[in-house]
Amino acid sequence: MLSEMDQNQAENLPAEATEGRGILFVVSSPSGGGKGTLIQRVLNKVPNLSYSVSFTTRAPRSGEVNGREYFFIMPEKFEEMIAADEFLEWAHVHCKLYGTARKQVAREIGEGRDIILEVDVQGAASVRQLMADSVSIFILPPSFEVLKTRLTARGTDSPEELNVRLRNAPLELRDYSAFQYVILNDDAELAANQLAAIVFAERARLSRQKRKVKNVVEAFMAKEKDDSN
Ligand code: 5GP
Repeated sequence: MLSEMDQNQAENLPAEATEGRGILFVVSSPSGGGKGTLIQRVLNKVPNLSYSVSFTTRAPRSGEVNGREYFFIMPEKFEEMIAADEFLEWAHVHCKLYGTARKQVAREIGEGRDIILEVDVQGAASVRQLMADSVSIFILPPSFEVLKTRLTARGTDSPEELNVRLRNAPLELRDYSAFQYVILNDDAELAANQLAAIVFAERARLSRQKRKVKNVVEAFMAKEKDDSN
């Protein structure tokens, strides 16, 4: 959800490509779409890429560590952070609150590191509105059956939570066409390679490295002039 303040001033976060600053990659999929594993694989493959650790009011699952998967906080604290405008975006997802801290994102991209945000489709829409230069990627599970099997096998959600997630999945899927890229997550390794390829391709866009390219080309031109004298 975007406050008016968010829309007017995305504090330190330029909407347009600014050379030397990191790229913001926004990755969404329904719960159980496999994006967690995928992102982990990509972080292991791609240098100079970081991950935005979100804040949530949901309880940690077994094996999750505070500050690694999420910062797990109480709803009161979350409300305080909203009031203090500490979120770049936040949303109600599956009856809980989830949000991206403005500070971490601003620091990473300010220092020239690319960053992946893993957010739901509402969060992706908010970021898209704030930062036209961000890159959005939708992870599409191959079928409802596969999604259901993955969620059930994970065994981390109560039957009620599982039902909420399964009910929400088709609604989340409807938003796929608002994304720039879609990865069909059929084969985890292939999907991770595709996501890594998107990161590398976006880095090679001329609009993101105009100055650097111009300097190299000008150095060539100067050399040609020297040689012809
Ligand atoms: P889970 O509880 O399964 O970890 O995540 C549930 C949903 O919340 C997923 O769709 C996930 O992408 C989304 N989510 C995680 N962090 C954020 C966030 O910071 N903002 C928003 N809008 N969604 C998030």
